[in-house]
Amino acid sequence: MKTTDLVIIGGGIFGCAIAYYYSKNNPEKRVILLERNELNNAATSRAAALMTMVRSKRSYIPLTMETFKVAKEMEQELGESLDFKVVGMMHVAASEATVKDLEELMVIAKEYDQQAYFVTKEEAKIKAPWLKVDEALKIGFVPNEAYCDPYMLGTFFARCAKNRGVGIRQGVEVIGLIHEGGNVKGVKTREGEIYAETVVDAAGVWAPIFAMEMGVGLPMAPVRSQYWITERADIFPLDSPMVLLPDAQAYVRPEGGGLLFGIREKKSLVTSPKMVPKDITDFVFSADEGMNDLFENGERLARFFPAFYDIGIKYYIAGFSGYTPDSQLILGPVPGTTGFLVASGCCGAGISVAGGVGLGIAEIAAGRPNPLDFSEFEISRFGRIDPFGEEWLNKCAAARSNKVSG
Ligand SMILES: Cc1cc2nc3c(=O)[nH]c(=O)nc-3n(C[C@H](O)[C@H](O)[C@H](O)COP(=O)(O)OP(=O)(O)OC[C@H]3O[C@@H](n4cnc5c(N)ncnc54)[C@H](O)[C@@H]3O)c2cc1C
Repeated sequence: MKTTDLVIIGGGIFGCAIAYYYSKNNPEKRVILLERNELNNAATSRAAALMTMVRSKRSYIPLTMETFKVAKEMEQELGESLDFKVVGMMHVAASEATVKDLEELMVIAKEYDQQAYFVTKEEAKIKAPWLKVDEALKIGFVPNEAYCDPYMLGTFFARCAKNRGVGIRQGVEVIGLIHEGGNVKGVKTREGEIYAETVVDAAGVWAPIFAMEMGVGLPMAPVRSQYWITERADIFPLDSPMVLLPDAQAYVRPEGGGLLFGIREKKSLVTSPKMVPKDITDFVFSADEGMNDLFENGERLARFFPAFYDIGIKYYIAGFSGYTPDSQLILGPVPGTTGFLVASGCCGAGISVAGGVGLGIAEIAAGRPNPLDFSEFEISRFGRIDPFGEEWLNKCAAARSNKVSG
């Protein structure tokens, strides 16, 4: 039997970020991170990795700003570059409603001291030659927005944590919690028990399985995210900005001389956390079904991307993210328990917010006040729910289908 101060279940970007901050801010404490496969094998490595900072959900912004800050710190610490692509984000508004949203976004940018300004259609066309701007009513540009390599970002957190002595155990599956009267005392693994002062459930879309052991339904569900990457063409410069097209419910960014794009499907694929295989590569995301979604919704995108019907598609990527009905994260102490925290419900934005999630959860785990505001992420905000029931799963899927931001 082992004992430690903190056990983290799951070595995705959330688990790795928590290990990073906890080990940095509590050098005297011991941490063990348990990952049943390889680090960052699941949602993290599949992300499109837009790091959108300026967004309508203010609650996410300080968390994402923290990610940008810590990325620089880790680059210094490791003496290596994370190679963030700071290409900026263009917001194209083509209806009265989205113009209003864009104007509000400009106010939000100012509130958080982020540069943002309107550009003309001609300027937009120069930045993104593939973009048809005829229908645009207003176009905003946020120059400091970036995308990154999500696997590398997750790995940087883990490498720094490991350098400070965090025990990173890959290929070790947690099979249950050790608990007594609401007090979580550790975890059971296939290799034995580990007792800990605090356990963090950072198991991604599988997180509800552990919370349910304590009788708590985590308000989230695994919902498929998908995107496509086109073949290369001259109209896709490497340094062109990311583009949000809320009227098409689509996002776009450059990728290796082609275009990476995602578009919201009318009905998102959802499943129970219990049905997602332990190794995500065992789940077959049907490229044909994805293609059907693409053609069913592609017309919206073609209004802004006329080459859509002519350009070849080279790659199809899909994976599960934990969505919640209000598109807010699931972070903090599990109600009715002690020694047990959750960091999940990423709503397809987990790469961007990873820094803030890591910092806040690590501070709570250490018994200190959280420097970030997690009040909108409370686990109990939907009351009692059944995270495995069909009605609940469909509610979470609808949150993704309606999403307009990247
Ligand atoms: C297609 C797609 C596109 C995306 N695009 C973006 C984007 O543009 N921007 C953005 O910010 N985010 C994006 N995301 C979301 C982002 O990938 C996730 O929010 C983020 O990776 C969540 O990290 P995580 O650590 O919570 O989960 P994961 O990365 O899934 O990690 C959870 C880990 O827990 C482990 N685990 C589970 N159960 C156990 C157990 N019993 N024992 C041990 N280990 C266990 C798993 O093996 C896994 O490694 C996208 C996601 C997808 C799928």
